[in-house]
Amino acid sequence: MSSAKSMVLTEFNAPLEKQEYPLPEPAKGQLLVKIAAAGVCGSDAHMWRGKDPRTPLPVILGHEGVGWVAGIKDDKESVEGQIIREGDLILWHRGISCDRCYYCKIIKEPALCSNRLVYGINRGCKEPPHLRGGYSSHILLDESTSVFRLPPHIDPAVVVGATCSGSTAAHAFDLFSPRIGDTVLVQGPGPLGLFSIAFAAACGAAQIVAIGGTADRLELCRGFGADITLNRNELSAAERREKIMELTDGLGVDYAVEAAGSKEAVKEGISLVRPGGTYLSVGFGEPAGALELEIFEDLVRKNLHLQGVWVSDVRHTYMALQLIRGKMDTFAKMITHRLPLERATEGMELMEKKEAVKVVLTPE
Ligand SMILES: [Zn+2]
Ligand SMILES: [Zn+2]
Repeated sequence: MSSAKSMVLTEFNAPLEKQEYPLPEPAKGQLLVKIAAAGVCGSDAHMWRGKDPRTPLPVILGHEGVGWVAGIKDDKESVEGQIIREGDLILWHRGISCDRCYYCKIIKEPALCSNRLVYGINRGCKEPPHLRGGYSSHILLDESTSVFRLPPHIDPAVVVGATCSGSTAAHAFDLFSPRIGDTVLVQGPGPLGLFSIAFAAACGAAQIVAIGGTADRLELCRGFGADITLNRNELSAAERREKIMELTDGLGVDYAVEAAGSKEAVKEGISLVRPGGTYLSVGFGEPAGALELEIFEDLVRKNLHLQGVWVSDVRHTYMALQLIRGKMDTFAKMITHRLPLERATEGMELMEKKEAVKVVLTPE
């Protein structure tokens, strides 16, 4: 193959366009990768709809990827120090931080880097080398990309979620972790919520409560480690509150993660956390408007730890990858749809309508 096939976002809300680009010769430190699996993230659909202010046009979407090294110029090492060779199966961290700004150097929070570049998000495809997103047969990775080498026979579709939803959930648990014996609430049964449930279980939570909207999704939550599930379409907010207070001897949960991307969820979740507890919001990828809170009752009087979570760093991708590798059968159930590259637009629609838990494009 001498050219790459890509699905390109050229106009918001219109179907992605199939385009071909010449395969670039990798420069020093770069990797040309033949994509094995590209995750379709909920935020791709938001970008497609023009809701993400970072979106350049045209752009090859897709910030979650796993693939085989198809071109390499010099030696390259994985973040674990293994030599990367042509033919190796790799997973890459989606963001590249600059390692020179205030947030990289002083605060040591590369997720907040002022110059952060993200494959498939803020890297358009107008100029050569074009191939900077995952909805493509190939991608060109820069020298500063952090790469993980994978065992050759691992299912690429199952691990691809480590690079965005898994990594972002890991960031939340890295900032604040529940303690052994805690009751943890997870709001939202999508990939972020499922990763959060699995992380909470790994942290030793005694009870994990998941709130979601459909029986199928809640069953999936139980498979990932949720002990109790509450269907928000069957139980009113007052009934959900009553259940949670029953489970916690009237205290409220110790730790809650919002993975729903809904303002109502934030308001409800904060009200369900006990005094001195922790509330993390990971579910918002783009502007969502204002929310009214009772500052005294919800925040101050509660001594609440309120934590926002923005994207993630390389070590969070590592945490998510390790979590998945310990539970491959469980995480395989998250992948509800595998589609050829040409059906990328449909993949975004399935994510948008929440018909799919996770869509993975498999260009092969
Ligand atoms: Zn930086
Ligand atoms: Zn994402």
